[in-house]
Amino acid sequence: MAKIGFIGVGNMGAPMANNLIEAGHQLCVYDVVQASMKAVPKAEAASSALATLEGAEFVISMLPESRHVESLYLEQQLLDHIGKSALVIDCSTISPASSRKVAQAANERGIAMIDAPVSGGTNGAHNATLTFMVGGRAADFERARPLLESMGKNIFHAGDAGAGQVAKIANNMMLGIQMAGVCEALSLGAANGMDPEVLSDIMRVSSGGNWVLEKYNPWPDLMPNVPASNHYAGGFGVDLMLKDLGLAAGAAVDSKSMITLGETARNLFALHSKNGHGQLDFSSLIEMIKAD
Ligand code: NAD
Repeated sequence: MAKIGFIGVGNMGAPMANNLIEAGHQLCVYDVVQASMKAVPKAEAASSALATLEGAEFVISMLPESRHVESLYLEQQLLDHIGKSALVIDCSTISPASSRKVAQAANERGIAMIDAPVSGGTNGAHNATLTFMVGGRAADFERARPLLESMGKNIFHAGDAGAGQVAKIANNMMLGIQMAGVCEALSLGAANGMDPEVLSDIMRVSSGGNWVLEKYNPWPDLMPNVPASNHYAGGFGVDLMLKDLGLAAGAAVDSKSMITLGETARNLFALHSKNGHGQLDFSSLIEMIKAD
């Protein structure tokens, strides 16, 4: 059993924290929105991020964006108060550059830190089936592994600091492109008289087959238990996809990489968000493409 400080218990953090408690760990949680901490009823609720550090062997954060992570560890100087023997695990999806900056600041203070962003959404967080993509030293990865296995199913060591974030944004850029492609293909088929269900069945087992067609068909009411069959509620929001595509664009600028398809996908999701659909599931993009 480990003593864990857990900072940021929102949609993802709360169920992840609950799974750690389920596995027998002792948690002290903190969130700037006090009410959020009620979602982790068996944890001690702290009055500040600093207060979660008392005796903590691990410090886990699950925050929205780069600026929140940098603010917590650097501007609020949390790193100056974390014990040298503790391992810091940041599960937020942030830019690789920001992730490396914070990890380096931790290392300079003699503190080990890994980036461990996740894939699998809120269902994966609840069911402890998340995929973890970890950047950092191998020994730190192994030390974190038992905790990550309490929250997830597929645990990968992606490489050095920041590599977890690189894996995450590359994967989500591919997902965004794939979704946009499936939306266009199904809309094109329907506009030319095809039944989208028959077209989906054909494409799924043909050379156009992919994860979106297998698990997340965007056409309404073709597949049970997907947001497209629930008015695009729940799932992975357009604005979250937009955030991840923005991170990919930033990393592409930094590395002079060509991401023409990623940029096109980002522009499509940006327009869909501007049209007022930022909170809908990202598969709702098909409504914009169909309308066009
Ligand atoms: P969320 O907004 O629901 O939760 C973030 C929490 O952090 C909020 O409760 C917020 O109050 C808290 N917070 C912000 N700044 C804080 C601070 N300085 N100190 C303490 N608490 C603070 O977001 P989420 O959906 O849980 O996502 C968290 C991260 O996981 C994001 O980076 C997101 O991109 C990533 N992610 C989300 C999903 C998903 O499906 N929701 C899937 C994979 C990855």
